[in-house]
Amino acid sequence: MTAATITAYIGLGSNLADPVSQLKSARIAINSLARIEELAFSSFYHSPPMGPQDQPDYVNAVMAVATDLAALDLLRCLQKIEHEQGRVRTGARWGARTLDLDLLLYGDQQINHPDLIVPHPGIGERAFVLYPLQEIAPALTLPTLGDINQLIAHCPLAGLKKLA
Ligand code: AMP
Repeated sequence: MTAATITAYIGLGSNLADPVSQLKSARIAINSLARIEELAFSSFYHSPPMGPQDQPDYVNAVMAVATDLAALDLLRCLQKIEHEQGRVRTGARWGARTLDLDLLLYGDQQINHPDLIVPHPGIGERAFVLYPLQEIAPALTLPTLGDINQLIAHCPLAGLKKLA
């Protein structure tokens, strides 16, 4: 790793084809990328679907990594892993998926690129992101959004459950 090393947070989600296995495979795939090192990985959480309700519940987790990949290069790597794990984009927003990988945070940077918005939109209101994020980064301050504990205080669990 170089002096340009950044701490990034990745959100993982799945609600098809054995979601816990999907997330475990994604963790291995992320760890096998060059120029990325895992710093922390949260528990798995069960969450009701956002959007269309006629789909299975999700399993979510958040991972912290150290990387000197540029943010867009990291996004492309995550998209390749999604693709390799059989994600088919149907076009339906918030539809069922075998694997969803989101770049939640990239250091303290704000990014507004046609392909990449960081902090990830909606992060401040989503229990399935905030609770696992707080588990691995309890003192985090999010760019533009502030203290993780303040965000959690205003974010009901909404059915989120930590898996044993
Ligand atoms: P989704 O289907 O929810 O995974 O959204 C994928 C699309 O969101 C892709 O076209 C990405 O380029 C775009 N996108 C924008 N910001 C992000 C981000 N922070 N993490 C992942 N995808 C992003």
